Amino acid sequence: MKNKQRDMQLQSYTCNFVNAQKDIPVGTNHLQTILAKKQQEKILNLFHADENLWNNWHWQINNRICSVQTLSQILPLSDNEIQCIKKVESYFRWAISPYYISLINPQNPQDPIRKIAIPDIKELSADGEFDPMDEAGHNPTGAITRRYPDRLIINVTNACGSYCRHCQRRRNIGTQDFVTGQDKIAQSIQYIKEHTEIRDVLITGGDPLTLEDDVLIKIVAEIRSIPHVEIIRIGTRMPVVVPQRITEDLVNGLKQYHPIYINMQFNHPQEITPQSTYACNLLADNGFVLGNQMVLLNGINDDKYVVQLLNQNLLKIRIRPYYIFHAKNIIGTTHFRTSIQTGLDIMKHLRGNTSGLAIPTYVLNAPRGAGKIPLNYRNYQELSDGNILFETWEGKKIILSKDGSLVNE
Ligand code: SF4
Repeated sequence: MKNKQRDMQLQSYTCNFVNAQKDIPVGTNHLQTILAKKQQEKILNLFHADENLWNNWHWQINNRICSVQTLSQILPLSDNEIQCIKKVESYFRWAISPYYISLINPQNPQDPIRKIAIPDIKELSADGEFDPMDEAGHNPTGAITRRYPDRLIINVTNACGSYCRHCQRRRNIGTQDFVTGQDKIAQSIQYIKEHTEIRDVLITGGDPLTLEDDVLIKIVAEIRSIPHVEIIRIGTRMPVVVPQRITEDLVNGLKQYHPIYINMQFNHPQEITPQSTYACNLLADNGFVLGNQMVLLNGINDDKYVVQLLNQNLLKIRIRPYYIFHAKNIIGTTHFRTSIQTGLDIMKHLRGNTSGLAIPTYVLNAPRGAGKIPLNYRNYQELSDGNILFETWEGKKIILSKDGSLVNE
C-alpha cells in the first residue's frame, strides 16, 4: 500500500510539466516543421533559390538577411517595428541566416527565436558595459584570452551564422566579418607551445565554424601537435543557426584530432529541429563530445519547464547540458537579464524532477574577468549542535550528522 501511494505521488509530480509542455513550442513537432517548411519556400522564392542551395552552408551565410526591407517580406512587421530596427541597426549589426529565420512562427509575436534574432528598441538602453569581463585586459598575446591556470581561449574570427541579440561577446562583432590574421594565430599557437601548463584550448569567436574547412582544420591540427595540449574545445552556435555547416567533409577533417569537445548554445526547445538533430547526430556518431551552454534569457527561457524540456530534448540528441550562464551586464543586451533568484528557482526545480544528466551548472561570470562563480541554491543549514539540517528535492527536512548519517526526519 505504501509503495502504491508513493508511486502515485511521484506520478503526480510530472503532471504540471506534462501540462506546461502543451504551450512550449518545440522545433520537431508536426505543426512547427510545417510552418518552417512554408517559410523556407517563401524565402527560396524571394531569393530565386532551390533546396540544394538551402542545404549549402555558404549559401546560408552569403544570404543572411540584414535589411529590414527583405525581413518585412518574410515576416509581418508593423511600421513601428520597421522604424525601431532601423534605429537599432545604426548602432548594432544584425544578420539572420535564412534557415534560422524560417524557424520563426510569423503568427507569434512572442516567438522565442524572433526575440533572439530580431533587433529590439530596448537595445538602445544606456545600461550595461562594453567589456564587463575585461577581456582586453586578459589578452597576453595574439588572439588569446586567458583567465585560468591551465586553459585558454583563442578567438579565430568575429563572424557568426546569425547575430544573436543577447550576444555576450557583442563587442567582438563589430560592423564587418573578419577572420583573425595568421600572424595573431601564429602568436597564439607559439604562446601555447611555450606554456606547458596549458592542457585545454577553446577555439571560439564569433563562431569558428564560419571558417572554411581548411583554415579551421589547420588551426586544430597545429594545436593538436602540441604535446601538452590534452583536449581541444570548439564553441559554436552553427548547429543551431546554420546546421548545414556540419558536413561530412568538416567532420572527417576534424575527427583526426580527437578528443574534441563541441559546446553549443541551444537556448530554447524550438531551436532543436530535424536539421539540427541531423547535424548533432553526425557529430556524435563521429566521436565529438557535445555540450550545451544555455544563456538564461528574460522572456525566452526564464521558465523552469522550458529549461527542463530543452535539457531533456538535448539529451535525446546526445548533447549534455553543461552550463546555464547568467547573462552578463553587456550594453545593448541588459533587457535579457534576469535576477539570480530566477536561475536558482529553475535549478531547484530541475533537481529531482529530471535526470541528473539534464542538470547543468548555473554560473555567473564574475565582472572584471574574475572567473566563473557557480550559483547554488542553499539546501542546508548548520545547526548549533553540530548537525546539519537538509532540505530534500521534495522540500522535506532531514537532519544529518556531519558524516551524513541520519539523525532525525
Ligand atoms: S553566435 Fe555566439 S558570438 Fe555569435 S552573435 Fe550569437 S552569441 Fe554572439
